[in-house]
Amino acid sequence: MKHDCQGNPSLTNYGRGCRCDLCRSAKSLYEQERRDKARKYKAENPDKTPPKKPAGKRDNPVVYADAFTRGEILRARGMA
Ligand SMILES: [Zn+2]
Repeated sequence: MKHDCQGNPSLTNYGRGCRCDLCRSAKSLYEQERRDKARKYKAENPDKTPPKKPAGKRDNPVVYADAFTRGEILRARGMA
C-alpha cells in the first residue's frame, strides 16, 4: 500500500513509502548531506574508516561486565 504524506513531506514519510516530489527531494537532500559528511570525515581523517552506525544489541544480547568490581577481585584473591 502506498503511503501518502498528505501534505507533510519529510524523510520519515519517505521512509514510510511516500514518493511525492517533496518527500523525494527531502530524501535526496538527506543522502547528499550524508555523502558530504562522509567525504568531509575522510578529508579530515584520511587514515581512519568512517564511523559505522551502531549495530544494535540484537546480535549480542548478553552483556558482560568489562571490568571486575573491587569485591570480585578481593574474592578472587581469597581476601574477602
Ligand atoms: Zn510525500
